[in-house]
Amino acid sequence: MAILEDPLRLVVGDKAAKTLDRALELRTVGDLLRHYPRRYETRGELTDLASLRDGEYVTVQAEVARVTSRPWRGRRGSILEATVTDGHGMLVLTFFSRGRQDWREKQLAPGTRGLFSGQVSTFRGKRQLAHPEYELLDEDDDAAHAAAEYAAEMIPVYPAAKEITSWQIARSVRIVLDVLDIADPMPRAIRDRHGLCGLADALRGIHRPIDWADVGRATKRLKWDEAFLLQVVLAQRRLAATAYNATPRPRSAGGLLDAYDARLPFELTVGQDLAGATIGDELALDHPMHRLLQGEVGSGKTVIAVRAMLQVVDAGGQAALLAPTEVLAQQHFRSITEQLGPLAQAGELGGAEHATRVALLTGSLGAAARRRALLEAASGTAGIVIGTHALLEEQVQFAGLGLVVIDEQHRFGVEQRDALRAKAGDGRPHVLVMTATPIPRTVAMTVFGDLEMSTLTELPAGRSPIITHVVPAAEKPHYLERVWERLREEAGRGRQCYVVCPRIGEGGPGGDEASGEEGSLLGAPLSDEPGDVARPPLAVLDLAAELERGPLAGLRLAVLHGRLPPDEKDRVMLAFAAGSVDVLVTTTVVEVGVDVPNATAMVIMDAERFGVSQLHQLRGRVGRGSHEGLCLLVTEAEPDGKSRQRLDAVAATLDGFKLSRLDLEQRREGDVLGAAQAGRRSSLKLLTLLKDEDLIGDARREAQQLVEADPALAGQPALAAAVRVMLDRERAEYLEKA
Ligand code: ADP
Ligand code: MG
Repeated sequence: MAILEDPLRLVVGDKAAKTLDRALELRTVGDLLRHYPRRYETRGELTDLASLRDGEYVTVQAEVARVTSRPWRGRRGSILEATVTDGHGMLVLTFFSRGRQDWREKQLAPGTRGLFSGQVSTFRGKRQLAHPEYELLDEDDDAAHAAAEYAAEMIPVYPAAKEITSWQIARSVRIVLDVLDIADPMPRAIRDRHGLCGLADALRGIHRPIDWADVGRATKRLKWDEAFLLQVVLAQRRLAATAYNATPRPRSAGGLLDAYDARLPFELTVGQDLAGATIGDELALDHPMHRLLQGEVGSGKTVIAVRAMLQVVDAGGQAALLAPTEVLAQQHFRSITEQLGPLAQAGELGGAEHATRVALLTGSLGAAARRRALLEAASGTAGIVIGTHALLEEQVQFAGLGLVVIDEQHRFGVEQRDALRAKAGDGRPHVLVMTATPIPRTVAMTVFGDLEMSTLTELPAGRSPIITHVVPAAEKPHYLERVWERLREEAGRGRQCYVVCPRIGEGGPGGDEASGEEGSLLGAPLSDEPGDVARPPLAVLDLAAELERGPLAGLRLAVLHGRLPPDEKDRVMLAFAAGSVDVLVTTTVVEVGVDVPNATAMVIMDAERFGVSQLHQLRGRVGRGSHEGLCLLVTEAEPDGKSRQRLDAVAATLDGFKLSRLDLEQRREGDVLGAAQAGRRSSLKLLTLLKDEDLIGDARREAQQLVEADPALAGQPALAAAVRVMLDRERAEYLEKA
């Protein structure tokens, strides 16, 4: 008998276990059983060969149409070619051998049906599988194993790999299913309430279904497992959080917060007021706040964060602000220091009464500056400490960390949040997470399920609209000239512009582009036509050089990208912010949070290369001041293609929530959850965050109830075990990455 945690070796034998591990990283019975079929072949129904893509490892069901053998020219041996068909298309199977292959020729006689597995390629215009593995299905082929394996009508086809075929996987799965003995982790009552079958049945149903109804039942149950397990973990985290103590940091009158409010040059929006009040109240509680603040780019989240930090400083604590990039940390440091003015000049001439200090801690600080920042944090002199990942390092100590603000959470994992949280000593700090990526409800429930949520829905008054246009550079090359003209006009009015490219490039002679002639970069086709060489995506360094020589000659250009040394990056951003650069040619390093109100136009080159949310984020860099923003999405994508539709959608709306749904529809869940959520990524296999919104909501309610009644899951040993496995995995993947 086997349980899910058993190593595969014990069940399927050493050899098969090694192959499964090497090829697919499947190590336990549970791993294998959660390697679900990609699709099912119905016995006798041939695979549509037109659907095959080059490079894919596929398993197809097809019939041999003809078979020929010829000598292997120039070598000893033979080449056997079998052409198989689905009734319409053809696929050539090629076998090379040192000797003759009469036996194979006989085996693959015309009319024979089988499963063929290998990597698809195109050779002389024909689709082929070179040296495929195969398994014949013919009625009169009475090879015992084939008969047993494919007795059912539905044949599971697994995501396979070079080292292992779909039916080899199926064979191991069958062995495992035969000896499986598992306790169902899902409580009976929940199963009954939602009409779910047992786990063992579900696993049999998905791997060896009799019919589609089997698959349907199995899928429903297994999706529930994914959602439910995750929600149980999140419910436990929420509950645990309320059990922790935090030092209350209530609002007090006459301190830095009041002084800051008095200095603010604008009125808070209603949303800012509301979110601010909620946060202010939660900071006063004796258990830690865990709140996610989401709001469109430019909706004014930073102000809320600063106010929260000042409340904590007024109450005798410190606040840390964690930013995802050096550029952002620097920018926060500058703008917050500036906003606070004398309030942040403790110990300096002109510093206000009760003034505090703001320290900056990033990886690129010099030794002396770093020592000073560490000291200010450890001694408590700095009420506010701003930094990047460098803040997480062990040497960083606080005198009394009361609040952790994390900007753009999607780049940080739960573990990183915890690392910073641990610096608060006994009690736990309050945590405020800010994100400008609008998060659909289901993602919020899944990824940020352990956080409460505040949303800013309006932009501050007086914010100018952003006009977005798609520029079809392939069909209308002169539009592109007009784009550069527009930038010259903006610069002529004293405004600034961004030009964003997907790639950095090498730049200069000997770079990675063979760009001999003028205009070759902008004019070269991005073609799918066979024979044409598609050009690589545009690169910052190449385009900047070209613009400087050509269409933007005379303007002050600068480049910004991730390969620049941090102090150089900072210098460029400073120069741009100060207005001494007209056009910043950049990669997506400007994506999050960068705030230069005088920047009014953004041109995004090869825009189809960016995701919907990313484009929306990018364009949020313009229209931040009193002037209208302009965003031009330059693309050579086909007018009717999917890419163009995406770009049109971005141009048509400024509603980030709408766009994030669209984004989610078009991407795989793993990408949405982000690299920081590695553990979750691998635990969501069947669940789709958009389509299964109701299911996720139900699972969340059930999990919440269950955990409230039985926090340690004492009455649910099987569920407790499943939770442990999931958490172990999450931890292991995190450590692997770190
Ligand atoms: P976010 O971080 O949400 O993208 P910021 O906090 O950076 O937005 O705010 C963007 C800009 O709007 C900043 O220059 C900020 O000073 C300004 N701002 C914030 N709140 C208001 C408000 N209520 N009225 C006017 N301007 C505001
Ligand atoms: Mg911001």
